[in-house]
This record gives sequence, C-alpha cells and structure tokens, in this order.
Amino acid sequence: MKSAKTTGMACGASRISRAVFSKSLAGAVAVNLKSFAGESGAKLPVMFVGHGSPMNALQENSNTKGWRLMAEGLKPKAVLCISAHWETRGTRVTMAVKPKTIHDFSGFPPELYAIHYPAPGAPDVGDKIIGTVKKHAVQQDHAWGLDHGAWSVIMKMFPRADVPVLQLSLNRNLSLRDHYALARELAFLRRQGVLVIGSGNLVHNLHLLKWDSEGPYDWAGEFDEQARQLILDGDHASLMRGEALSREAKLSIPTPEHYLPMLYILALQEQGEQVSFFNESIDMGSISMRSMVIN
Ligand code: ZN
Repeated sequence: MKSAKTTGMACGASRISRAVFSKSLAGAVAVNLKSFAGESGAKLPVMFVGHGSPMNALQENSNTKGWRLMAEGLKPKAVLCISAHWETRGTRVTMAVKPKTIHDFSGFPPELYAIHYPAPGAPDVGDKIIGTVKKHAVQQDHAWGLDHGAWSVIMKMFPRADVPVLQLSLNRNLSLRDHYALARELAFLRRQGVLVIGSGNLVHNLHLLKWDSEGPYDWAGEFDEQARQLILDGDHASLMRGEALSREAKLSIPTPEHYLPMLYILALQEQGEQVSFFNESIDMGSISMRSMVIN
C-alpha cells in the first residue's frame, strides 16, 4: 500500500485522495443472477454502480467485491456503459473495435496508468442503438474508448476482458427528463444479451470531500436516504427533478453527470421488477457508493 496522503485530480478539477473510501457490503444482494446465464433471449438485469475513486481499480475491497458479485454467473454478449465521465454535445456511441483505456485523471500513482483493459468493442450493438433510438439522434463515435467510470468497474466484473464493451455518452444539452426518455429506448438491449450498466455516484460533491474519517455529512446521508426511498417507491418523476428535489439534493448533485447514469438505469425498470441495493456506504463524507441491480 502506498502512502495514504492526498494525491491528485480526477473527475475534472476536483481532488481525490488515493486513500479510498470506507467500504461495506451492507445489504448484500439476495438475488440470484445466475438464472440469467446463457439463456438465449432471457432478459438481463440492469445495474447502477457507484464507482467512487479510480483507485478501486487497483484494490480489492468491499466495493469491488460488490461489483464482482453482481456479475457472477452473468454471461452477457456485450456491456453498454453509461459513464459519468463521458459528456458530449449530442449523444454518441463508441464504435471502436478495440477501445483504448482512457486514464482521465491526474496525480494518481503510476500503477493506475499502467492498467489497460483490453475488452473488445461492440460496434454492432452501437449500430443497433443508432437504428433504434428515435427521440434523439445518436451519432457514431470513433475517438472515445473506455473511461475510468467504465473500465475501473467492468474490469472487476469481467476480469478476463472477454465481454465486448461500448459506451453511450451523456448529452450535455438534454434535461434530466430527456435523458430518461432516451434511456427508455434502450430497453430492447436487455433481451438481446446486452448488460446495461450506469456508472456514477448518487451523491457526488468533490468540493466538500472530507480527508479524515468523520463519516458522511448529514445532508449526504439524508439525500442518499431520500433517493433510496423514492427508488423503492418507483417515484421516478420526483427523481427526475434532480438537484431541485431538496436542499440536500442541491448539495448532493452540484453537477448532473454522476447522477444521470442512475436515471438511465431507473428508466429501464419494467413493471413488477425489484430493486436491490448493494455497496450502501458514503465515502469521504460526500460520495455515495450506493449501487443497485434491477431485475
Ligand atoms: Zn467519477
């Protein structure tokens, strides 16, 4: 373990510590995902993952354990990731046959930059998305690869890098409601063997990170609980209000990009499907690791 002192930059202009977050696997998920393995035409679950620090990629901790457990037994034909770390004008989908590993952070130890996740791309799935999504045009993208919101999580779920991965970008010009509507048009993927994963953080305020271990801010815990309850109630309309939902929401969602991937996953919830939470911790005061699987 390297020194635990504060290191560098990630997620834009905000500092992240290399000492990664407290962890718990509270609420270990009691769903049997194995039943989805290998069944042709079976509907895959959808997942939202709180990714937290890029350092999770180098570690084996309770967060990464939760990610691994969620993928155990799943054999998707491809993974579509909606990551907080790819925002664009217009909506784009990666078409790379061999997507590059993007190290979109700075100030972290060299071992993190040495990670390359060699999963193949899935341009065939990209074409299907472009052909199916009608409300908002989706463009081909030949430049992006996999950002750390995608690879730091997916490398734990599918360490052999034998499942093709593609990403869909977050269009900066859309409202939360527009994003939700777009996401609903991705529903067909679940029955075509594509595992859809949103990667962000429900509470994500890097400006107020705590460098000691004093526990979460009250507002962070309160918003995490408000959101949990609204998710369980199926009240997606309230969740689409985002930062306007409450004072706690305003502090928890200073910018929308880490919140939006969760809305994409909620939009794919079908009638009668259950939500199971895992990794229910709040790290460094203001980062909720809350993750969920819907099936
Ligand atoms: Zn992030």
